[in-house]
Amino acid sequence: MLRENIFLKIISKTIPVTIIHEDSECLAFNDINPQAPVHILIIPKKEIRTHADLTPEDSSLMGHLHMVATKIAKEMGLEKGYRLVLNCNESGGQTVPHIHMHLLGGRNLGWPPG
Ligand code: 5GP
Repeated sequence: MLRENIFLKIISKTIPVTIIHEDSECLAFNDINPQAPVHILIIPKKEIRTHADLTPEDSSLMGHLHMVATKIAKEMGLEKGYRLVLNCNESGGQTVPHIHMHLLGGRNLGWPPG
């Protein structure tokens, strides 16, 4: 079930996190419950609940999140590979109702996902 939007509190710095990247459009920080040696969440500062709520005006913002993921993956030495995951709504495994991209790496990642 989608819980309260804890990521808005992270954006407003009400809840502290280890920030990996921040700019005017987005924030990247370590996941509190890492599933891989590198597990970083990249989130827009704009309030968007789910992937299904994206509109054409979000195109460049979502492209920007990907560019930030590419930059962080290089900085983290993930040249062997990494995975980007974006869960959408309950059946997609989304638990926080603010769109976020997971950047996972540092181990061999299995497929298919659970
Ligand atoms: P989802 O399941 O919605 O795709 O991913 C939500 C992610 O947010 C989970 O991996 C979870 O561990 C992470 N998370 C939830 N609450 C917090 C928090 O307060 N701080 C941080 N750093 N990560 C959180």
